[in-house]
Formats: sequence, C-alpha cells, structure tokens
Amino acid sequence: MYTLTATELHARFLDHTFSAEEITRYFLKRIEKFDPEIGAFLATFPERALSKARELDARYARGEKVGKLAAIPIGIKDNIHVKDELTTCASKFLINYRALFDATATKLLEAEDAIIIGKTNLDEFAMGSSNEHSALQETSNPWCLDCVPGGSSGGSAAAVAARLCPITLGSDTGGSVRQPAAFCGVVGLKPTYGRVSRYGLVAFGSSLDQIGPMAVSTEDVALVMEVLGRRDPHDATSIQAHSDDYLAQFDGHFEGKKIGIPLAFLKDLNPEASACFDRAIEVLKTLGCEIVEIDLDILKYSIATYYIIATAEASTNLARFDGIRFGVRAKEAKNLTDAYSLSRTAGFGPEVKKRILLGTYVLSAGFQDAYYKQASKVRAKIIESFEQAFQQCDAIATPVAPTAAFPKNAIRCPLNMYLQDIYTIGVNLAHLPAISVPSGFNGAKKPFGLQLIGAKREDPLICRLAHAYEKAAPYSREIPEKFDREVE
Ligand code: GLN
Repeated sequence: MYTLTATELHARFLDHTFSAEEITRYFLKRIEKFDPEIGAFLATFPERALSKARELDARYARGEKVGKLAAIPIGIKDNIHVKDELTTCASKFLINYRALFDATATKLLEAEDAIIIGKTNLDEFAMGSSNEHSALQETSNPWCLDCVPGGSSGGSAAAVAARLCPITLGSDTGGSVRQPAAFCGVVGLKPTYGRVSRYGLVAFGSSLDQIGPMAVSTEDVALVMEVLGRRDPHDATSIQAHSDDYLAQFDGHFEGKKIGIPLAFLKDLNPEASACFDRAIEVLKTLGCEIVEIDLDILKYSIATYYIIATAEASTNLARFDGIRFGVRAKEAKNLTDAYSLSRTAGFGPEVKKRILLGTYVLSAGFQDAYYKQASKVRAKIIESFEQAFQQCDAIATPVAPTAAFPKNAIRCPLNMYLQDIYTIGVNLAHLPAISVPSGFNGAKKPFGLQLIGAKREDPLICRLAHAYEKAAPYSREIPEKFDREVE
C-alpha cells in the first residue's frame, strides 16, 4: 500500500481491494513504527481517523456516493486548524491551544471523505527553512537522517517522503511548501495567492501565505487542488478560480510552449544543483517545450524585500498572542503589562522574536518610509518583471533551492539560512503559482527539485507541465531505502 499514490490508493478502495479502515490502520502503523526516527508528526488522531474510516466503509457498503478523496489519509501542518485538536504552530506559546473551528481547507478535505490522520511539525509559526526552529521537536530528512527536511513545512514533506501518508498540507509564505518538497523528493504546490482559502491558517505574512498540497505525485497534488481551489467568503482575498479540471483534458503535449529561464539570475548556482537543473531542462525540451531566456535579475532583491514585508506582517499578526486571548499566560505576571511581556518572552522562540523586532522596526514611525514603503515599491517592480517575463513565455523554470538538504546545525548564520529562499520568495511576492517536482539526486542520493512557475491563475498549466515532466523523469516514485519496506 505504501508504494501507491493517493489516486491509486483511492482506486483500490473503490474496487474493494482495501477498506478505508484497513488503509487507515496501515498508515497509522507506519507512523507508529517509523516516525520515532523521523519526527514528522506532532500528533496523530487514531480515534478520529478510524471512526471516519468506519463511517465511510459503512456508507460505501450501502451503495452511497463517496467523495473524491475517500479513504486517503492526509496529514495537516500544525498551523492549520482541525476543530477540537491542538494547533501548536510548533510554539511553546500555543502548546495548550485547541482549534475552535475547522480551517476551510480541513473542511473541504473532510467533505470529500479524506481521513485526517494527524498534525505535522514545522518551524515555529512557519518561520524558517529547515524545521530547526520548531520549539517542540526535531524532524529528520528520510533520505538522510542527519539532514534537515527543509522548512517550514518539513514535517509534511518528510511524512510523504517516508510514505507515512500519501498527502499532506503545508503552507508557503516564501517557499515553505516547495523547498521541503525538494529536499524530501516529493511534489509540492504553492497555489496562486487567493486560490486556497487562508481561513483557519494561523497568519504569518498575510499578503504572502498560501496553503498548498504535498504528495507523491503531481496527479495527487492536482486532485487536492480540485478540492481546495474554491472561493471562500470567509477569506476576503479568496479569488474565483475557473478550472477545477486540472489533468482531465491533458494529452501530454507541449509543442510550442515556451519555458523561460532567467539565466543571468541563476549564474551562481553550485555545480551539482546546476547540472541537475540542466538535465531537467533537457527533459522539458524532449516534451516539445521551447526554451527562451528571460530577465528576472530584479529577484536578487527579493530576499531583502521579503524579509521586510514578511516580518512587518508577522509583527502585526503575532500581536494577538498576548497570553490573554491566546497562548500560555506567564504564571508570575502581577499586572497586565507583565502578563504581556512575560508571556511573550517565555512563549516565543528566538527566531520569532527576531522577526517581531525587525518587523516592528521597519514599520516604526521613523523608518517606515525607508524600509517598509521602499520594500513595497521593489515588490511592485518584481511583479512588473514577472509580468514582462510572461509576455515571452508560458512558464518559468528554476531550481527550487540552491543546494540539496544540508546537515542539521550546518547553517548558523541567519542570513545564509535566508538565502535558501532565493528562488522561491519572488513567487510569493508576486502572488504566482509554482510547483516543485523531484528532478533527480546528487551523488549522496539527496533529492533536488525543479520549480515551474506560472502566471497568475495558471495553476493547472504548471501542474500539467510537472505531470508530463514526472512521466518522463519519474523521480517522485523513488522511496528512501530505509523506509521502502512493510512494517511487521
Ligand atoms: N523560509 C522562509 C522564512 O523563513 C519562508 C517560510 C515560509 O514560507 N513559511 O520566512
């Protein structure tokens, strides 16, 4: 069962090879057996999952209609609400916070009969690129247990890579779905901003955040998008998306489609990553794509721009965690000011504090013009450059990250860690869709990812392209050796 994609698993449920209960027990057992070594899950929901599975089996036995995701176990990043369960955001601050409502994404998955199996680890409040900022638990990369799984949706990526469940949800503010997907050799999509509702996702940078699926195959990612990609009145930035038919009319041909490559911007890529990227481009050519050079040099400013805008938004969003309305209240507090400051001092980890400080600084009266407003202007230029690029091409290809997964504790300098996001962040600033699809391995058998970026609302196009790429170069079906076996 573990070698199957979600789509295949769902088909085996429909043809009565497996019941939903069997599937659920099977994956719960894999989690129990393998996750102590990986640390992908912060919580599992055996009772909830099994009762949903039994209910589904009974309904199916009565001949009733079942949903598109029936019997597929799904893990959810622990910054997305599942009603009555903890939403910790991997922070000590929210260790006691139970969600009062379902995120729209959770609701839509369950309405299509997915089985919510547990919550996955992340960098605290989704701030990070390695999962090393989780205040609760370490997560290891299933391809190399000494290495990070990437971040911030590292738990979600590692869970799929070790086939602890076939689909997970992550969130992507600057690369947090795509970079861990690349590090763990799975597929991950960051949808067009507004395509998936943010209602019930704990906000980090509200103008950047998107929930996105991670899975074993592009087909599975597309399937989840057909379920999640709808307008939601609970999210004021939610958009009306047209196509919910991602792969159905797809014939696999890309003759004449133009793929833009920002060659100058990629010139400093390390040789290993660069060789892998070149091979991926050759594959795209064999699909009939035409390669054109585009200019996205402006993206060299994207990290500086992002770390002003994202921290500004984070400092505002995280103001609600005060120990009164949300979060653990410091016991020693004697008055209101104490309650705020002691609770925040004890509750937030160092990376989160750093970002709140930076964000408050760039928004402060004396510096707003120099930093926040300036960054907003550069953001507008970045958007413009992408628009110009899309006049020359149908999609853009880049690597996902500058390197393969790195060893834990290897990157000490925060600025070097921020460089991890150099190829992913511009996409969030410009509200574009982008997919990360496995594109091979380095000599140490660590995965790389190819990023395909689409114009706004072109999520189906990049899924089709990734799907065709994956057919020609099926790296996403490879499983880390250690976890490529049944549990007894
Ligand atoms: N790595 C980036 C950051 O640290 C992006 C995180 C994300 O996408 N949530 O902010």
